[in-house]
Order: sequence, then structure tokens, then C-alpha cells
Amino acid sequence: MAHVRRTDRQMADGRPIHYFDDTEPWVSGARERSAVDTRDLPAVATTSTMRWDVLTGEWVAHAAHRQDRTFMPPADLCPLCPARPGKEPGEVPEADYDVVVFANRFPSYAGAGTSLASEPAGLVDGEALWPVRPAVGRCEVVCFTADHSATFASLPVSRVRTVVEAWADRTAELSSLAGVREGGEVFVFENRGKEIGVTLQHPHGQIYAYPAPAPRTSQLLVQAQRHRAAHGTSLLADVLAAEQRAGTRVVLRGEHWTAYVPAAARWPVEFHLAPHRDVPDLAALDDGERDELAVVYSEMLGRLDRYFDGVDALPYIAGWHQAPLGPERELGRLHLQAFSVLRQPGKLKYLAGSESGAGAWINDTTPERIADRLREVAS
Ligand SMILES: [Zn+2]
Repeated sequence: MAHVRRTDRQMADGRPIHYFDDTEPWVSGARERSAVDTRDLPAVATTSTMRWDVLTGEWVAHAAHRQDRTFMPPADLCPLCPARPGKEPGEVPEADYDVVVFANRFPSYAGAGTSLASEPAGLVDGEALWPVRPAVGRCEVVCFTADHSATFASLPVSRVRTVVEAWADRTAELSSLAGVREGGEVFVFENRGKEIGVTLQHPHGQIYAYPAPAPRTSQLLVQAQRHRAAHGTSLLADVLAAEQRAGTRVVLRGEHWTAYVPAAARWPVEFHLAPHRDVPDLAALDDGERDELAVVYSEMLGRLDRYFDGVDALPYIAGWHQAPLGPERELGRLHLQAFSVLRQPGKLKYLAGSESGAGAWINDTTPERIADRLREVAS
């Protein structure tokens, strides 16, 4: 079992920061005298709202304060790097860390666990068609390493294991907050590469705790409910079993995890990773599953970076879909979806008319070819 030590501190504006140290002597907050965030920071704005899109049945968040957020600072101004003499103070006051998590300074969703969570919904312009509510939730940043120029795939497996521990810890805590626990969802993800819109180069991911199931989850719940009514079984478990049975798109199979390209993959590079045991979220994984996840995830990210000859850092999005909280929780099942917008070296898959306008996806390759390539580039 990984020995990870969590230490909680507060940032200058009251935001919580959590250090996850895996190696003695503990490098960051767990030391006897921890560094203090002395910056003069105004309180975080929590002015986002969500409006109901009556045409799609989805909530859309409006977070105008995010226009001011830090965009692609040079390395010596990186807010995610640890404190160094002569460096502009950033978000992390300690001089080093293993993995650190803190609340985003420019959150799209905020106020979970506060009185904002019980604020009633109103109406835009008094029209019953347009409910509006505060965008209650929590947005956290997860720094995978103190090394500015590293990538997730380059981390030792022991450090990836610490990240898994941090993800599980944050999933459990955010799931318990008022405003999330009643029927929200905790989404753990990493955006990698400027092609994806990353605004900070430091290796990091994010965690969004939403007040309601995200639209993709809502669609999945409808499908899972239909499947259960027709067959009496779990849709996500049946999909995993079918992929294992077919085997044609299975990319990697371990004792606890299977990675496969879904039969109807929509991205030019895509794989899913699912645990063999029915678990709702990362917090429910046991030690054996967490240990193997660190190995398997690291291997799969390495394969992404070897996917195209001449592209050594594939832009990708990797997101953990976890069971929503609330009454429909049993319909969900933990799985990762990882994909790239790169279809060939130097060529991005743009979501153009058919995808963005009509929501009708066209993939320029086949799921079986993607799986072949992902097997070819095994380490
Ligand atoms: Zn940095």
C-alpha cells in the first residue's frame, strides 16, 4: 500500500491547499514548520451562474470572471511551480512538493459546502422557460509534480500512484459537500497540450465537482436505465464484458483493469479504461486496483505519446467518469475516457459543421485501426 501523507493548509485568500507527500523526509506541508502564503489576494469571485437550455435539457454555466485568468506565463512566473528565492510567489508557498491540490483561483463552479448551496433557482427575465441558479460546485487544480518540464507519462509509477491517491481522496471529499452530494458529479480530468486550450504548461490536471450530472453523464444514465429495463443488468459492465469477449479492440488487459477502444469511438485516437470490479468511483478502488492503475495508466499515456511518429507529446484529454451522486448512482460505473484531437501529425480534428452544429460525429479512421496502433506502440 502506498504511504501517502496528506497535510491541509490555507492559502492567503482562504482557499484550501492539500499536500500529498509520498517520500520521507516529507518535502512539503507536513514538515514541522510549513511555509505561509503571504500574498495580498482578494477573495475568489463566485459569481458564476447556470442557465437551463430548454432546447437540449442541459445546464450551461456562465463564468465571466474567468476572462482575466493567467494565460501561458513564462516558466519563471508559473503559478504552479513551488516557491523559489527570487521567483514571483505563486499558488504553492512550499519550496517543494510531491503532489499538491488546491481550489482554483478562477473557478467555473464554486461555493459547494457553503450557504450558496441552498440558494433557490430563479428565472431569467421572469420567463418560466429559463431557470437560472448559482453554479455551485468546486474546481480544484492537481499538480502532478513540482517539475515544470515533466509530463504525466514521464513520472515514475510511484508518483502516479500518489496522484491516484490524491484523486481518490478528493473524489470522496468533494462528493460529501452540500450542493454536490444531493445529485452532482465529480469529474477528474487532465487537458494536455496547447491544442486542447491549456493555459498553464506545468503538468497538472483538474477536478470539477458539478451540482448536477454533466450532460454526457445524463445521456449515459438514460441509456443505462433503458438497458436495465430491457435486460436487468448494468450497461457499463456489459460493455466491458462484450469488449473483453470480442477482444478485437482490447489494447491491454491486467488483473484488475482493461483498456480498449470503444466499438463506436468518435475521436481519431481514443481509448477507455475500466476496472473489472463494479465500482462507482476512484474512492471505491482497493489498494490492489490502485496499484495496478498506476502501472496501466502510465503505460497507456506512454502509448499516446508514441502513437504518431514525430509527435512526442500528443495533445490529449483524459477524463474519469464516475457514478453521479444521488438516486441514479447505481446506474453509473467508474471508467476513463482518453482521446486526442490530433488526427495526423500537424492536423487537428476540428469539430466543424456536422459535429458542432448537428452533433453528428464522423471519425476518419476505424476503432479497430486505433486499437492496432495502440497495441503496436506498447512499451
Ligand atoms: Zn511550473
